[in-house]
Amino acid sequence: MARGRLIAVEGIDGAGKSTQTTRLAEALRRAGLDVVITREPTGGPHGQEIRRRAAAGERLPADRELELFLRDRDEHIRGVIGPALAAGRTVVTDRYFLSTAAYQGARLGDPEALLRRCEARFPIPDLALVLVAPTEVGLRRVGLRGEAREAFEEEASLGDVARAFASLERPWIVRVDATGSPGEVHRRLVDAVAARLGLPVASVPGAGD
Ligand code: ADP
Ligand code: MG
Repeated sequence: MARGRLIAVEGIDGAGKSTQTTRLAEALRRAGLDVVITREPTGGPHGQEIRRRAAAGERLPADRELELFLRDRDEHIRGVIGPALAAGRTVVTDRYFLSTAAYQGARLGDPEALLRRCEARFPIPDLALVLVAPTEVGLRRVGLRGEAREAFEEEASLGDVARAFASLERPWIVRVDATGSPGEVHRRLVDAVAARLGLPVASVPGAGD
């Protein structure tokens, strides 16, 4: 059986990743693909620890924080992503290792080095869609989400993260303008997936178009 495809949706907080991941997965399902939707940090023990600390505003030392993300991803690949790809399924993940390269890379000072380390350790995605929006748009949308703001969602550090995302170049990275309505962004993503992966995918209607 042919290995399935791995699509990552990436970008800063509030760029619209969770909204767009759900909708892209729906569009891929309607195109007849067997789709697994997943996210990072995961619901596993390391992912839960990351989310708990973020919600409490607790910041670990940078190297410990990085280690948690890497271990969470090891488990994600072993338990979810690897088996799904081996079974020929299409995996759409809300964040993947480009987020580690951008967030922990911004904090540690070398996003490119961290990206190389991730490429050596984890399956390289067939496509990483980076949603690009100004930090003030992301922060405004995070405010709309109605959750407590997290330590990493302050504008100054989010600017560093945005610059780290912008600095990373790979053949499998596609940047998509994430401003405009959810429907506009969705159609841009669908076009990028169709063009890059040669899939017969079409946009689906949704709320807020
Ligand atoms: P992320 O997962 O990247 O942090 P979300 O998908 O959770 O972002 O979106 C953050 C908030 O912004 C949510 O309340 C969502 O409904 C809203 N939102 C998402 N995309 C758009 C958009 N294109 N325009 C306006 N609001 C949006
Ligand atoms: Mg999200």
